[in-house]
This record gives sequence, C-alpha cells and structure tokens, in this order.
Amino acid sequence: MDKQPTIGRFAPSPTGPLHLGSLYTALAGFLQARSQQGRWLLRIDDLDTLRNIKGSADTILKTLESFGLHWDGEVYCQSRHIDVYNDIISDLQRNRLIYPCTCSRKKLTASVRKQAPPDIYPGICRNRQTPPDCPYALRIKTDNRIIAFRDELQGLIFHNIAEQDGDFIVQRKDRVIAYQFAVVIDDNLQHVNHIVRGFDLLDATPKQIYLQQLLGFATPGYMHVPIIVDEQGYKLSKQTQATAVDLTAPHGVIFKLLVLLKQNPPIELQQASVTELLSWAIAHWHPLLLKNTHAVS
Ligand code: GLU
Ligand code: ZN
Repeated sequence: MDKQPTIGRFAPSPTGPLHLGSLYTALAGFLQARSQQGRWLLRIDDLDTLRNIKGSADTILKTLESFGLHWDGEVYCQSRHIDVYNDIISDLQRNRLIYPCTCSRKKLTASVRKQAPPDIYPGICRNRQTPPDCPYALRIKTDNRIIAFRDELQGLIFHNIAEQDGDFIVQRKDRVIAYQFAVVIDDNLQHVNHIVRGFDLLDATPKQIYLQQLLGFATPGYMHVPIIVDEQGYKLSKQTQATAVDLTAPHGVIFKLLVLLKQNPPIELQQASVTELLSWAIAHWHPLLLKNTHAVS
C-alpha cells in the first residue's frame, strides 16, 4: 500500500515574536516534513484574542522566512474558521455531548472531593435541566475509555480520559473556542497527518485524540520534541520573557538549534549559509536521537 505523503504543520500563537524555543519546534517539524518529501503548513492560532499581540503574526512569518523555513500553501488563520467550530459545537450540543457549565473557579475549588485529582471537573452541571441564566462555558462529556497512542519519541501512552481529564472545556465563558477543540478541527481541515510539537503539549494529546474519535476524524502521528529550558529548568516562553530570536545571523541560530536537536552538525558547517545548513539537516534528519528526551538546554 502506498504511504500517504506527510502533511505537517507549525501552529504558533501570535502572542509575540518567535523565541528560540518556538523556532526549535518549527525547525523540527520542517525537517521532519521535508525529509519525508512532505508538505509543511503554517497555521496562526489566533483565537485567544485577549492574548494576541497586534503585528506579531507578520513578525512570525518574516522570521520563519529569514530562517529559510518556507511553508507550503496559504497561511491558515483560526479566526477565519469560527463558523466551522460553531457548527460542530451545535451538532455536539444536539447530540447532548456538550453541556453548559456555569461553575466559577471558586465554586470548583470548594467542591473538589479530597480524593479526586485536582483540576478534574466534578460534573456539577452535567445533568442540569434548566438553561443557564448567566455566562457559561461549554464542556464535553468524557467517558471511561482508554486513549492509547504511540508517540514517536516518548513511547506508548495510555490515558483514561474521564479519570485523568474529566469533562473538559471546549468553549470558554468569554466565548473563546478552546485550543483543544479548535486544533482538532483545524488539523482535520488541513489534512494534517503528522504533528511535531513541544513535549509540554503531550498531556493535551489524549483529549485531542478523544475529540478526533468523537468527530470521526483520523488520528495523526505524533512526535513530541523536547522543550528548551533555561538554567533554572523553566521552559523558554513569552511568560518567562524569552527574547526574540536574533535575526542578524540566522545561520548561527540554525547551527545552534541543530546542536540542540542532537543532530551533531559537522563543525565545518558552522560558517555555512542557512540554505546549505538546512539541506544538510534534511538529508541527515535523525529524530530518534531525541528519544525519551523531555527538555534540552
Ligand atoms: N498554538 C500552540 C502553541 O503555540 C501550538 C498548538 C499545537 O502545536 O498543537 O503552543
Ligand atoms: Zn459547572
């Protein structure tokens, strides 16, 4: 049987310029797709309007281009697909798989049973009969099924969705569609069949596979690459004030990232151009060198 061509994607949130950590994930995804002669798509995860920073989507695109990470096709913006998410929400509501939840964080903290793991919704609004008369979030009903998948770097994962996640939010009280929900629909719409992203999102994957099963979507392959951490062990992120990547010497940055991806680039390539470095890296991409690694620094 012919193998489907790989379709991967990079999905940054436009909450600031790219820092080394996000460029690391982008490079890993790019090398994975290109080494398989696959497509590499770009999506802007711009649903969380409160966190978006004006102009940062453009900055992200320019940065990727100056690092030679050229994507295929049009840029996909989540904010242009709100109707699609809403239609699917309505279908799930009709099938009683989604329910409104008016619980405040305070109420939840007070009601959590001692033995229950923290952050698991105790189901207070699950069987409510009357429509809510105040702002509400929408939650998806989970069941006791085991989600099992094999991450290409992190191995086999088994997860009981009701026990370990509980009924989770698909639309927030402020009407913003939750990341878990949108991402599953976007990946399906974009025909993504292979996802490369940071280890910090491994925990989100069972929820997304659960949604794929509910919606009848195929489950893509997953490769959760390590995250870059600082000296204190914290993930480089906009929250930890990680600085924007230096655009003045892109080849130096790519060389450093290839070292952090454990690809052992030959020292002679230290002076090579971005194009030369990337073609070497595509030809020699060996992701299994990152097996079982959660963080690098
Ligand atoms: N937009 C998400 C982030 O920046 C990534 C989503 C994903 O790769 O699934 O963390
Ligand atoms: Zn509730």
